[in-house]
Amino acid sequence: MRITAIRLERRALDLDPPFPAAWDPNPRRDFEATLVYVETDEGLTGIGSGDTMEGFEAYEHLFVDRDPLDLERHVRALETIAFHAARYWPLEAALWDLAGQAEGVPAARLLGGAQERLPVYASTGAVLPPDGRAETALALREEGFRALKLRLDGTRVEDGLACVRAVRDAVGDTMEIAVDLNEGWRMPGDTRPPLDGDVIRRLVGELRELEVLWLEEPLPTSDPRGLAELRAESGVPLAGGEMTRTVAELDACLEADALDVYQPDAVLAVGLLRAKEFALRALARGRRFTPHTWTNGIGLLANLHVAAGVGGGPYLEFPYDPPTWTPERRDFMLAQPLRPDADGYLSVPDRPGLGIELARGH
Ligand SMILES: [Mg+2]
Repeated sequence: MRITAIRLERRALDLDPPFPAAWDPNPRRDFEATLVYVETDEGLTGIGSGDTMEGFEAYEHLFVDRDPLDLERHVRALETIAFHAARYWPLEAALWDLAGQAEGVPAARLLGGAQERLPVYASTGAVLPPDGRAETALALREEGFRALKLRLDGTRVEDGLACVRAVRDAVGDTMEIAVDLNEGWRMPGDTRPPLDGDVIRRLVGELRELEVLWLEEPLPTSDPRGLAELRAESGVPLAGGEMTRTVAELDACLEADALDVYQPDAVLAVGLLRAKEFALRALARGRRFTPHTWTNGIGLLANLHVAAGVGGGPYLEFPYDPPTWTPERRDFMLAQPLRPDADGYLSVPDRPGLGIELARGH
């Protein structure tokens, strides 16, 4: 089999009302998704999505005419490009989609086949007042979610803590609560200084009392020593690594025992194969692996296949915060939005490859 072309398609959805993502100073009024199609001389087409693929056209020739199943070679080529330009991991997702189709099995089987479904946590995205967030937590529990993640605005830590307290009071011990400080990386142009160490220490003290599942990204992953110290002195489980640019950065955290939960996103951070390899190293050391999935339905699928392949957990991230972030918005490029079953599990689709069924052109 040979790759004949790699085609990009940009789809967009208007967001009205806008989505006020906690980590983005600008409310989002539209949502773009770039689809990658790897076309072959045997009629099979692999599909991926996630990162923007901006500027990829200049590198298409490095893949055309090659065997799409030479995955290790393609991953190395993508790593050389990532050094000089952008991260084109959605192309790797498309290659796994193709590999699964060629073998007639879900990609998760090729990535280890450890699990067929994973329990999910509702990953909220907006910052709400405490009573509003407590109400939505109860609604999520009613829908079958056993865990949720709350966003803390680093510039309003006290308000965020009040929110976590209100949710804990509302749900008691019937739900697990993860908290994301989003201090690991910044949106372009967001030049605020890092949070003050005393603020972070006071925060982790309170979160320990509230028995959170984990605190995510209190510091950048480029500071493994700082994370390791905070983790050791606070006793609060720490999570991070969603947007790391290199495997070395993740390995440095593992070496320093900086995190309890590792979250490299397969279509944003280090790709699917390297995420799988790293996950196995982390799991062998008794740490957890559960990738960030906050792109779109195809990115969520790619991460589901990696997490199910290696045996990730304890929960898979399911971006979900109605009314502003719904499966219909997140998965607008899919024929059917992905949803957990009544037990709160998301299943690997029982179809070859990533199991993508596209909506008609948007
Ligand atoms: Mg996060």
